[in-house]
Amino acid sequence: MTQDDGPAAVFESRESAVRSYSRSFPATFATARREFVTGADGTRYLDFLAGAGALNYGHNPEFAKRALVDYIERDGLTHALDLATTAKQDFLETFEAQILAPRGLDHRVQFCSPSGTNAVEAALKVARLVTGRTNVVAFGGGFHGVSTGALAAVGSEFYKQGLRATLPTTTHIPFPDSPMGPFDSLDLLDRLVSDSSSGVEKPAAVILETVQCEGGVYVAPTDFLVGLRAWCDTHGVLLIVDDIQVGCGRTGTFFSFERAGIRPDLITLSKSISGYGLPMALLLVKPEYDVWKPGQHNGTFRGNQLAFVTAAETVRTHWADGSGDAFGAEVLRKGEIVAEYLRQNVTSRFAASVRGLGLIWGIDVSPAGISGAKVSRRCFERGLIVETCGRDSEVVKILPPLILSDDSLTAGLDIIVEALYDEAQNGRRATAGDPLATTPHATTS
Ligand code: PLP
Repeated sequence: MTQDDGPAAVFESRESAVRSYSRSFPATFATARREFVTGADGTRYLDFLAGAGALNYGHNPEFAKRALVDYIERDGLTHALDLATTAKQDFLETFEAQILAPRGLDHRVQFCSPSGTNAVEAALKVARLVTGRTNVVAFGGGFHGVSTGALAAVGSEFYKQGLRATLPTTTHIPFPDSPMGPFDSLDLLDRLVSDSSSGVEKPAAVILETVQCEGGVYVAPTDFLVGLRAWCDTHGVLLIVDDIQVGCGRTGTFFSFERAGIRPDLITLSKSISGYGLPMALLLVKPEYDVWKPGQHNGTFRGNQLAFVTAAETVRTHWADGSGDAFGAEVLRKGEIVAEYLRQNVTSRFAASVRGLGLIWGIDVSPAGISGAKVSRRCFERGLIVETCGRDSEVVKILPPLILSDDSLTAGLDIIVEALYDEAQNGRRATAGDPLATTPHATTS
């Protein structure tokens, strides 16, 4: 496969230094379909990045494209502030009938400015308004976006550097699983809040991802989620599940918390909610906590009508069986393919840990002493776009579109394994032992 010469000079000379993904995947991309992206030079890539989780249904899904083109040709509104429109009505009615009602969720739907971080801002603000408290408990390794309120809840120092003094009060505690190993997070939380001399203010809310993605793919155990729900009820603390990256079917159910049978007070959704990669962000709020004054959390772009059109069509196409979740069952089946593949080709032969659920998986290469970023680069050279995550990019993050074929799934996994072996043999850090000879271990959930 020939690689192009990388992005044109204008990206380097004119685009801000803040650009990041384009540095990891240095090509100029032109077209895309399903799980494939094609570069301007004709090079075809298999996409296991999926818009960082915004493309669960693949690139340009036909059913949504048809609905979109039809709506545009009819001169449907494109921008409408938060006015009532037919497109929004269709989305709300479809979402209520197919997603919320079958799952017993009576939450109100708040349309936020169209990035995930704004939905997180809204969640944190409304939790503070409801409780009159300011502190929020978040988890080490958590990621929630980079606007000031959300950033305060992020674990990683990288995003906070130089900005700490500007961030609202947040208390971070270890996640139940992390590079430090298993941890009784609930016990610590209980001790901190029950002890009036702990120095930790009782929080307005606890915010978490049920599967931490950016932190390195750590899956929260279901008994922890159940316990946290009960603890929040006991203490009058709101539970916020940030389902921006692992919602919309990624873990095998529409919402990632369904596996624990819990109902969060506040739920954030973005990324794949539009089904087409169009910007859209929602906060789902239990009715009793919907205490906003009209317009108190407003924004010019809360009404991306094109996103409503594709979102409604996506729900009709993939989630029309209520909570039966045939689509989710397919995700779990493919997740089993990944788990089995990784068992046979990674953890039984290689010093790496694997963690995941549904179609979010991480291969933690830190036990092998090799660089995840270099594995990702070797994958790209072989035509696979795959990201890394974790504290030090030590985890290769498998995040393909949920609709990819079984053949594409195994083709991508084959490339990752080839790249791993290549990096282990030719590129591993001088300090590491022989990664092919060390004891394998797997942590799968
Ligand atoms: N929350 C989670 C769990 C995320 O993964 C992300 C983005 O990766 C965000 C919030 C922020 O979303 P956005 O980048 O759209 O602001």
